Order: sequence, then structure tokens, then C-alpha cells
Amino acid sequence: MSTTKAYAAQSATAPLAPLSIERRVAGPHDVVIDIAFCGVCHSDVHSARNEWGGTRYPIVPGHEIVGTVASVGSDVTRWKVGQHVGVGCMVNSCGTCASCKEHEEQFCETGMTGTYNSIDKYGDGTVTSGGYSTGIVVNEDFVLRIPEGMPLDRTAPLLCAGITTYSPLHRYGVKAGDKVGIVGLGGLGHMGVKIAKAMGAHVTMISHSASKQADAERLGADDFLLTKEADAFKNNAKRFDFILDTVSAPHDYNAYLGMLRRGGTMVLVGMPDASPIHAGSLVLQRRQLAGSLIGGIKETQEMLDFCAKHKVLSDIELIPMDQINTAYERMLKSDVRYRFVIDMKSLG
Ligand code: NAP
Ligand code: ZN
Repeated sequence: MSTTKAYAAQSATAPLAPLSIERRVAGPHDVVIDIAFCGVCHSDVHSARNEWGGTRYPIVPGHEIVGTVASVGSDVTRWKVGQHVGVGCMVNSCGTCASCKEHEEQFCETGMTGTYNSIDKYGDGTVTSGGYSTGIVVNEDFVLRIPEGMPLDRTAPLLCAGITTYSPLHRYGVKAGDKVGIVGLGGLGHMGVKIAKAMGAHVTMISHSASKQADAERLGADDFLLTKEADAFKNNAKRFDFILDTVSAPHDYNAYLGMLRRGGTMVLVGMPDASPIHAGSLVLQRRQLAGSLIGGIKETQEMLDFCAKHKVLSDIELIPMDQINTAYERMLKSDVRYRFVIDMKSLG
């Protein structure tokens, strides 16, 4: 065991505060990583505050981890000390079920091991602790290679926000000229705009914040649609081939579905609590509604290589660890440009 500095929430209502945690001794297939930066995902807030239920306290959030390999287990040959690596939302899975064999570990039939708040059933049986800490020990199969030359701080958010938006855009074959709407300009949304643009789509940012228009254009959006404007939904009916909804708060899905053309597809990646869907929103124009969960390890590496090739990085606000509670409050007010990233030097 090694004692590691971390930040944790002790209950759904407690602010995050310093905590020492124990990381396991590296097994033969483990990689020990010194964490340089960790992005702040809205899922961290949902989890710390038990908004999805099932949070185990104390919880150390953080699943957009980048850093340097500090040491490797005796059987690890792929990873070398000093290499730049990343860890996303998963740290293990069974490796033998159909989903794992198809490189979709996020759908592991026995349940993937989340980077935080999961029982480490293929490891030491403890509850996993995430990246708001100075170091982590991860099975070698769940470590990602950070392509040469990518700045680590601006790459951290790709490990969740990047893959979560890349995966559905790629899976549904978004291509040059497609009319794509990205809903919500936050961490996921800003990566969605950049990645859809890199795929050649005509991208419209669909936002409820008028103040984000100039930024949306700077990030690469071709157009900006303010949902608060009178008749916004009516005036844009049947406009899009594909909509990616990244919104973290309850909203009316039916209104957004109405902006899809006949046969168009809307994919939900945002996970607010329930919001009713009317059959007519889908049936009458043979529309499709789907969900998408992060991406497998192979696809995450593919996304990192795609982003390196197309020079796609996150726009970040670097914060010291002790600013995390303020960052959460600002995220809840949609006041994030466009991902908070924790500089872990501030904890070390
Ligand atoms: P975020 O940075 O807080 O961004 C969410 C955005 O949603 C806001 O910036 C805002 O954009 C929009 N929004 C907020 N409240 C709204 C409201 N009442 N009505 C309409 N729009 C609203 O959050 P994030 O980190 O991108 O995460 C977004 C969601 O995705 C969260 O629910 C998170 O848990 C989920 N998530 C899912 C996966 C997955 O695998 N499926 C992975 C990671 C995260 P505007 O100001 O532009 O409207
Ligand atoms: Zn996330």
C-alpha cells in the first residue's frame, strides 16, 4: 500500500476536502501513474452529491486523468517509466464477456470497474478512488497512450468528454456536410463541436446561454441557436440530420427531437434525471433516439490519435485542487469555459 494525497467528499452535502488514501501495491500487470492533471466532469458532481444514488463515501472523483508512468509491474512490457499516459472512466472489466471481447468494456456484462466509486472486483476488492489525487495504480489494459506533442493539461478532458462525444459521432457515421446540432456548450459540448467539425460536419451549437455565442463560433461552430429565443424550436423544425444532447439538467427532449429531419437521429449523452418522451416525437417522422456511454479502450485510443491528427484539444481553465468546490458551483450555473482541469502540483 502507498499513502496518496487526495480530495474527497464525505457525504452528499459535504464540500470536497483533503484526505489521505491508500493505493494498492502494483501487481504484475499494474502501472503506477503520477497524476499531472485531472479534468472535472459533470459526472463528478452528480456522483459526489449522490444525484444518481449509490455513491459510496468517502468518494474521490476524477476520471479525466493524465500523467507520467512512475513504475510498472513485473509483467508489463507495453508501458515505460516516464511515458505520458491517460486513464478515463474505467480501470477494469472481466475481459471475457461478449462486450469485452468486442472492445466495448464499458458494457462489460459483469459491470465495468469505474475509475471511482466501484468495487475493484478484479483487483483488491476495495472501492476505487479517482483522479483528484497525486497518483493511481491501474491495470495495464486500461492505460491510454497520449500521442507525442499533445499538451497534457488540454488533453485530460479528452479522456471522458472527448471519447463520450467522439463515440456517437463516429458510430453514427457523421461525415462532411451533415447538419449536426450539439446541445449544451459545456465540457462535453465543446468537445462535440470540435470533433464534429474535424469530421467535416456543418455544426450548430444549440445553447440556452446567449453569452456563449462568440465562444461557440471561436470553437468552430458554423451557427448558434439560442433555445431561449421565441419560436426557436418552431423555426428550426426538421433542420438537423443528427443531434448530440450533452445537457446535464432536465429539459424537454421532445422539443429537441422536433428539430430532427425525417429519419434523423438524436443521441443522449447527458444524464439528468427523468424527462418524459412522447411517442409522437419519434413516430411521426420515423426519428431515432439513442443513448451512448463513453467508449471502449480501443476506441478511446483511436479518439486520442484522431484528436492528435486534427489538432483537437480542450479549452480549459486550470485550477488548483483547493478551488474544486467553487468549480462545482460554477458548473452548476453553466459557467465553465469549457472544462476545469486540476493542476495536481497544487496537491503534491
Ligand atoms: P457541463 O460542463 O456542466 O455542461 C452541461 C451544459 O448543459 C451546460 O454548459 C449548459 O450549456 C447545458 N445546460 C445546463 N443546464 C441546462 C438547462 N437547464 N437547460 C438546457 N441546457 C442546460 O457538463 P458536462 O461535463 O459536459 O456533462 C454533461 C452531462 O453528460 C452530465 O449529465 C454528465 O453526467 C453526462 N456525461 C455522460 C457521459 C456518458 O458516457 N454518456 C460521460 C460524461 C458525462 P448551455 O449553457 O450552452 O446551454
Ligand atoms: Zn465524465
